Amino acid sequence: MLVRAPMRLSVRRIEHFINEKQNWIQKKQAEIKSKIPPKQDYASGNQYLFLGERYPLLHIESGNPLNFDGQSFQLNIQHKGNKAFHWFYKKEFIKTAIPLLEQFAEKHGLNYKEVRFKAQKSRWGSCSASNNINLNYLLIMAPISVIEMVIAHELAHTVHKNHSKVFYELLTTMMPEHKQADVWLKQHSRLLHNL
Ligand SMILES: [Zn+2]
Repeated sequence: MLVRAPMRLSVRRIEHFINEKQNWIQKKQAEIKSKIPPKQDYASGNQYLFLGERYPLLHIESGNPLNFDGQSFQLNIQHKGNKAFHWFYKKEFIKTAIPLLEQFAEKHGLNYKEVRFKAQKSRWGSCSASNNINLNYLLIMAPISVIEMVIAHELAHTVHKNHSKVFYELLTTMMPEHKQADVWLKQHSRLLHNL
């Protein structure tokens, strides 16, 4: 490290200053490391989430990019791990979410136009002014109650375009335990983005 300092500063003071800065930098680096999960390498034996449970990953040589048999995931090593998981999670989320969306909408007399599925960094779902709904398919890693909560939340927005008291009253009617699901999602948000 090159440090420029006025001539009159003593070497001792400069050293002290550098030490203090280094301690601070090391502390900050350790803090950052502890918050960010390590980057995925899709190694055999790693654990991955599906509907709130963790399952180990095995490597295979052929077949679908990724299979799931209820006990483990099997990654076809001809495919990139990241792409294979996105492909699988999206496919499974669509299968899970569409019936839930239709059930909630029918039961509570709510109408939505179209639904789209994409992986997003910052949102779990959204509902446009014209009642098109977007859902984040990474939610397939969460327990079913969390998926239901996000779907109910976006459907409630087809009536109330805000987070007012009446919005939450409707959401509570649709899903009385929505708060617990929301807590789970906030606590696991970083994990669900670690693909
Ligand atoms: Zn909202």
